[in-house]
Amino acid sequence: MILNCRTNLINSGKMEKIDLKGMDRAEMQEYAQSLGLQSFRGRQIFRWIYQEGVLDFSGMSDIGKPIREKLSEAAYISELACDKKLVSSDGSTKFLFRLSDGNHIESVLIPEAQRVTLCVSCQVGCPAGCLFCATGRMGFKRNLKAGEIVDQFLRVQRESKRRISNIVFMGMGEPMLNLDNVLKACRILNDDYGPSLSQKKITISTVGILKGLKRFVSNPGKLGLAISLHAADDELRQRLIPPAKSTSLVDIMDEAKRYTKKAGRRASFEYLLLGGVNDSIADAKKLVKLIEGIPCKINLIRYNPVEGLPFKKPDEEKVIKFRDYLYPRVYAAMIRESRGIDIQGACGQLAGQQKD
Ligand code: SF4
Repeated sequence: MILNCRTNLINSGKMEKIDLKGMDRAEMQEYAQSLGLQSFRGRQIFRWIYQEGVLDFSGMSDIGKPIREKLSEAAYISELACDKKLVSSDGSTKFLFRLSDGNHIESVLIPEAQRVTLCVSCQVGCPAGCLFCATGRMGFKRNLKAGEIVDQFLRVQRESKRRISNIVFMGMGEPMLNLDNVLKACRILNDDYGPSLSQKKITISTVGILKGLKRFVSNPGKLGLAISLHAADDELRQRLIPPAKSTSLVDIMDEAKRYTKKAGRRASFEYLLLGGVNDSIADAKKLVKLIEGIPCKINLIRYNPVEGLPFKKPDEEKVIKFRDYLYPRVYAAMIRESRGIDIQGACGQLAGQQKD
């Protein structure tokens, strides 16, 4: 376990400090024991880091000074650096975070009347390369570690006046291609001694990478699942989403059905309306047929043009007609309002401009 943790070389390479951020509770307890401490000390440290957001062992007031000093010699608690913060006229805020290796990622805080949602990233760039996506255009640099995912929550929560109630993995990256770290981050976020966010309030979004999706659906707990469809036939989907070439919609629908049974929840389908590409009534008919019999809701999203990409916003009239065709033929269909358009709200727009 410890060998997998991020380390920091000090004292001319003679001793390495261990980064505690990213350890789950079991690992933290194991780590405490490795220092000759009782296991419950690990739980205390876990709570200070993930519930209180403490970054310095001296702030852990229920742990005695000799133990705190021992911890300071052996370990540290990392934190993302915030390089930019853009506040939209609609109240949403985009954060540009710098990782310890100089790479950048984005998180977006979206306050609404009933909830405060944080959209987090799980990779630097994305290997999926969807044609309409600013992140996809960046290429792929690396997976985020669990600690870097959880830290997006901790950093933003510190600045938010309201408590973050929901987390969606809809920022940079494809969660099913970094599933171990995504699930570990969810475990930490859900822990009663940590942020204690209900699994029902955390949603994993995917374009349907089958291997990861099957694994996730085998044991989803109560985590939410949002599948990005964006097209209701394989031919168009494969043109928009390169990984769709190796996954058919039939297979994805099978997994969606299995998810609803395993999790006891409805699946969500995201459908990005691209002007003149997938927004006709013929497309809506195909969509209704595709999801027939699956307890689900469909979120329609208007595409916001990204500079340099060959897609345009759909006509408003077509958006309404599309929604009205879907509902009541499907369980639920709603138009999700795009947020943060004036602050480059689409994922990857800001990070893609950074020179690392
Ligand atoms: S839409 Fe999602 S999966 Fe596709 S390239 Fe963008 S971040 Fe990756």
